[in-house]
Amino acid sequence: MSFSNLGLSDPILTSLAELGYSAPTPIQAEAIPLALKGKNLIAAAQTGSGKTATFALPMLEMLARGETQRKKRIRALILTPTRELAVQVCNSIEAYGKYLNLKALAVYGGVDYEPQKQALIEGIDIVVATPGRLRDLYTQRSIHFDEIEMLVLDEADRMLDMGFIEDITKIIDTLPVDRQNLLFSATLSRQVRELAKETIPNAIQLSVTKKSEGKPNIDQWLVTVDKDKKSALLSHLIKENSWQQALIFIETKHGAAKLVTQLEKRGIQAECIHSGRAQAIREQILADFKSGKIQFLISTGISARGIDIDELPLVINYDLPYPADEYVHRIGRTGRAGAAGEAISLVSKDDFKNLCMIERRLDHLIERKVVAGFEPRKEVPVSVLNFVPKNMPARDDSKDSRAKPKDKRVASKSSASTHGSSRSSTPKQTDKKDSSADNKLPFNPWGR
Ligand code: AMP
Repeated sequence: MSFSNLGLSDPILTSLAELGYSAPTPIQAEAIPLALKGKNLIAAAQTGSGKTATFALPMLEMLARGETQRKKRIRALILTPTRELAVQVCNSIEAYGKYLNLKALAVYGGVDYEPQKQALIEGIDIVVATPGRLRDLYTQRSIHFDEIEMLVLDEADRMLDMGFIEDITKIIDTLPVDRQNLLFSATLSRQVRELAKETIPNAIQLSVTKKSEGKPNIDQWLVTVDKDKKSALLSHLIKENSWQQALIFIETKHGAAKLVTQLEKRGIQAECIHSGRAQAIREQILADFKSGKIQFLISTGISARGIDIDELPLVINYDLPYPADEYVHRIGRTGRAGAAGEAISLVSKDDFKNLCMIERRLDHLIERKVVAGFEPRKEVPVSVLNFVPKNMPARDDSKDSRAKPKDKRVASKSSASTHGSSRSSTPKQTDKKDSSADNKLPFNPWGR
């Protein structure tokens, strides 16, 4: 299968060849011809599967045929959960559409309104937006939706997790009814299916992930360690293994800044990004990390989705996230586009409940290691896969929770009584989690 069989025209084929895309990924092969026929699609697409091109290529192909760049009137809208993803998607569209006379703009909060308004006045075909800023611009009449031909909801599950449902439905209510809709989501949870049912009529559902893509090639393991020894262990591992680059996830903004200082004291240069930092700084740091100028980037969940870093070899979970899907997205930053990756978690007793939920979500136990000199004083029990800590929501699928663990060495240590004694109902946080819903605005009257 080659891109030329999919119905794409020469200007797009030329830019794909220049980007080194020799053949479509499975989701591209399945979805692009359908999208070019104007079908509504709902796709369960794993991170790194090439989903950006899946919606961007038919969008460019279709838009190239009509009148372009009309003042304040956009023709295609892509909604994304985070600013970083909006910028990245916009960059991809510009690269794919290099030989077309189409203009794309990323619209997101945390930066001046004026350049975005000015660009819209000059004429933009495709807007890639986070929902909060987009609603704001619409309310200010800086953007009009009446000529929108295509809507893409990217990372729909993440947008719902971040509480954007009201923004999304209000935006959709103002779009022309006669439009094409594409929805991409890592997981087709009940909420995502409900959103799709209400907003996307007659959609074809694709789930290429399960049928043909298989699991990304990510070697996962964890080290058990006491919480107060994590930064020393991390420094030790970086030096011992001569790691050259890693994206290190941590739950809180405060924790991220503190870890930078702790690593620096041990001679390791690192930077951190979280929603409390200015947007321009976030973008610069991410660009420096992508170019290799920054070796170790500590990030809260804002980088867990969509962010694409060429050949990132290693993701480290300094603590474990909740919900469990977040773990899957975090580790999906490595092992992208068929490359091999490694994902390591530093797990203390405090992380136990989140570990249970993650292993249950993965349906297997993660291989454990103990590093000499960092043996935990507080032992981390081994999870059993059907364990649900009190008041944790049940998993939204019908997976057999009693599936056998992969690693028998580890499984033999499991202790149901330890799990049963859990008392607190939510994962313990010592600092407020960086929810990353920083694009949300307070409610303002919509559609005036
Ligand atoms: P995405 O899932 O859209 O974030 O894409 C993941 C990575 O795969 C990005 O670096 C894309 O540039 C790359 N990619 C997407 N489609 C292809 C393709 N057909 N061939 C080679 N690389 C691709």
